[in-house]
Amino acid sequence: MKLYNTPTRQVEEIQPLHPPTVTVYTCGPTVYDYLHIGNWFTYIREDILIRTLKASGLQPKWVMNITDVGHLVSDADEGEDKLEKGARREGKTAWDIAKFYADYFEKGLERLNILQPDFLPRATDHIPEQIALIQKLEEKGFTYKTSDGIYYDTSKFPKYANFARLDLDEQQAGKRVEFNKEKRNVGDFALWKFSPADHQRDMEWDSPWGNGFPGWHIECSAMSMKYLGETLDIHAGGIDHVPVHHTNEIAQSEAATGKPFANYWMHTNHITVEGEKISKSLGNGITLEDIEAKGYSLEVLRLHVLESHYRSQSKFSWESLEAAKNRLQHWQEVADRRFQPQTPGGDVTIEAGASKAALDLLNTLQNDLDTPSALSRIDNFFSAIEVMSLTDADLKGLVNLLESIRDYLGVNLLRSQDISDEQKGQINKREEARANKDWAKSDELRDNLAEQGIGLRDTPNGALWFRL
Ligand code: AMP
Ligand code: ZN
Repeated sequence: MKLYNTPTRQVEEIQPLHPPTVTVYTCGPTVYDYLHIGNWFTYIREDILIRTLKASGLQPKWVMNITDVGHLVSDADEGEDKLEKGARREGKTAWDIAKFYADYFEKGLERLNILQPDFLPRATDHIPEQIALIQKLEEKGFTYKTSDGIYYDTSKFPKYANFARLDLDEQQAGKRVEFNKEKRNVGDFALWKFSPADHQRDMEWDSPWGNGFPGWHIECSAMSMKYLGETLDIHAGGIDHVPVHHTNEIAQSEAATGKPFANYWMHTNHITVEGEKISKSLGNGITLEDIEAKGYSLEVLRLHVLESHYRSQSKFSWESLEAAKNRLQHWQEVADRRFQPQTPGGDVTIEAGASKAALDLLNTLQNDLDTPSALSRIDNFFSAIEVMSLTDADLKGLVNLLESIRDYLGVNLLRSQDISDEQKGQINKREEARANKDWAKSDELRDNLAEQGIGLRDTPNGALWFRL
């Protein structure tokens, strides 16, 4: 199993520290609003990572955090807490907002058939662990105090710029006017922020430094160490996390433990919608509800996500969603052949071909999660067999392949049901009418089946049905 590793910029073979276990930490959402499809693209791609690890015989132990405090409007520790802002917007408390949108997120995971992470820890449930980690950094001399919080001194961590290949001198020179003048270095970040003197926050805790709340980055270090140990096998997240969030996670974790924080880093690229960046002001923050309101299933959305590689900057458009819908319909039509064994079969059996297709599928995924190639392998195989006459034995091979598609890609073509005996009877009657050249009767039966949502395709070995 190979993955592109951000720090080395190379595709590398994954070698877990304690196989078959492979520890995976992925940065989850900040739960202050409905998620948009950009967010979900990232989580579906991480789901493919987990599925491929499993298919490769490894046992992923997967943690995805839920950020429900401390993520400020600007990633540079400035502005309001996103949760407190959400609370003001809706006239609720930050606690209500966190609960509502975390529940919404968890339901979304289920609706999108994203595998359930082994742990979904919330930042607010891990305040003591975060305080303990900050204390450790304090003891080791990595922190300093300003009027608004406890900060990490990035100059004490010489490797700070390495991960994201940052040019700190350039950053220092170009720092914005509102730069917090009490920060010693441009990259320094808050570990703990003090509650403001002029108003009461909904979320605040007592600490050795006074009332306040944790900075955004410390939760991921504290929770990943708690559930997965001091060195992770794989850490994943959106590409926007490279220069700030993940750089800071590494600085604080490695300063505290003296060990590498993660051996492999996977970053998913951002998508654009109709060529534009997703943003509130453009009003293009499409949600799962918007997708469904236009008549598309979330399985179609999943297939659309898999059509592009996770490292490419892909585009979402309604036309491409329509194309994914057509592809899924075609796949389902082939999958429904499993209810329709034919005799005689073709000259060649597809059993060996089907298991080779399943293997090809896995191999393409193991090659840096190459989902676009995986989908075209399936297209090719399906196009080859749909013109063939398939016997019972062939269909067993087909079902095995459909199981692999379900497990590796999370696209379940096995949910559909067989048609009823009565409908099968109608198909037989139509065959008889055709044999007797009674075209009027044959057309009537075909129309009748079409009204029930069943289409027919005539082949030399009899009619095959498919869902319209
Ligand atoms: P946030 O809740 O803003 O922290 O974002 C949650 C996740 O969604 C992060 O991993 C982001 O990288 C990811 N994300 C945000 N916008 C997009 C986008 N347009 N395309 C893909 N992923 C995105
Ligand atoms: Zn994180």
